[in-house]
Amino acid sequence: MRRYVMTSAAILLAAPAMSAAAQEGGQTPLGQELESEWDGSLEELFLTFHRNPELSFRETETAKRMAAELKDAGFTVTENVGRTGVVGVMENGPGPVVMVRADMDGLPVKEQSGLDYASTATQEDIDGEVKPVMHACGHDTHITAMVGAARALAARKADWSGTLLFVVQPAEERIGGAKAMMEDGLYERFPKPDYALAFHVSADTPTGKIGLFPGITASSSDSVDITIHGVGAHGASPHMGKDPIVMGAEIVMALQTLVSREISPLAPGVVTVGSFHSGFKHNIISDEAKLQLTVRSNDNAVRETLIDGIKRIAANVGRMNGLPEDRLPEVRVGFESTPVTVNDPELTERVRSALTSGIGPDVLLAEDDNEGMGAEDFAYFAAPNTDVPGAYMWVGGTPQAVIDAAEAGGPPVPSHHSPQFKVNAEEAVTLGAEAMTVAALDLLPKS
Ligand SMILES: [Zn+2]
Ligand SMILES: [Zn+2]
Repeated sequence: MRRYVMTSAAILLAAPAMSAAAQEGGQTPLGQELESEWDGSLEELFLTFHRNPELSFRETETAKRMAAELKDAGFTVTENVGRTGVVGVMENGPGPVVMVRADMDGLPVKEQSGLDYASTATQEDIDGEVKPVMHACGHDTHITAMVGAARALAARKADWSGTLLFVVQPAEERIGGAKAMMEDGLYERFPKPDYALAFHVSADTPTGKIGLFPGITASSSDSVDITIHGVGAHGASPHMGKDPIVMGAEIVMALQTLVSREISPLAPGVVTVGSFHSGFKHNIISDEAKLQLTVRSNDNAVRETLIDGIKRIAANVGRMNGLPEDRLPEVRVGFESTPVTVNDPELTERVRSALTSGIGPDVLLAEDDNEGMGAEDFAYFAAPNTDVPGAYMWVGGTPQAVIDAAEAGGPPVPSHHSPQFKVNAEEAVTLGAEAMTVAALDLLPKS
């Protein structure tokens, strides 16, 4: 059984008291405290973030606010780490370093959630285009929860010993932010963590529940661009040109055989063409088409098979259409990619046990409910890509009744990245903050 140092606040976290509270459907004292923080100021902070989302690597106002909040909580704060990232350090005696990471970027999506606090924001993206912006992945809950955890841990300094490293990460959605922070010396300029923690709100997970499992917990992701160089012509004279739209369509269809015919049916993989752009007018054969793909897998061999297959198909569709060798479709990879996120088994077990004793015996999901191939650039911070063990968890965002109704044929639960995306922010923020606090306290025991 987990041993807490029995200072007054730590007694409140001891297992028997918590289990009893949770079994009665009540809340832990820490949970109650975070609930009043929500009513007091976290809700307002969340609404500010939700109404003012910012795109990847453009999160300047969000970063400023997070820097101010962490400073207020007593952290030593450094801004502009990995472009717009923020790092907060709280040193509190000897002991390990625990990193808590929250990502802060929104997405180029026009919000149609129907919420009265829906975003109407627009922003110029790094490509120069002005786009609608929405927190369509729930990163606003992550940063708000981080502020809650920062305050809770600062208030409990007597109960832990060690160092907190709070990392506010930009550009998770472009899977570039974690890498940018690492390249900017996150583990050299600041205390290097012994453990790395993070959570993601999950629309598929019931509120009040946390999913935390050893091993692979998020897939690898690679963005791929294909540029097809055709030969433009009059729409009435197709024989005079090389139609890039027809070649693009052939590529899209041929790509469908990669997952179905080239990888084992027992190995998951995804090749999705998310964007296909070409042409300006009915009667002009365009001279170029551009495709944007995302590729997901849970192991390197599958990842390589899929990427090699994309290159082979693109080139050979070009050949099939009579393009010369120096004009074959171009395939670009490696500009946005993240490896598989793997939870360290030992750390996962330790945090699971801390969450059950600190929050309640029913807080953990019994089984992994992850049905998709979401990717996470948290992978860049943790083993096997560094020597820091990581634990990445999913925190419930949708009431069980809504999930049940959807399963019974009712309105579907809107997915992450959709314009309808909405989660129960209060539940996600308070439980996310509680989980980070309880885990950090367990990993930073006072000797
Ligand atoms: Zn996302
Ligand atoms: Zn996300």
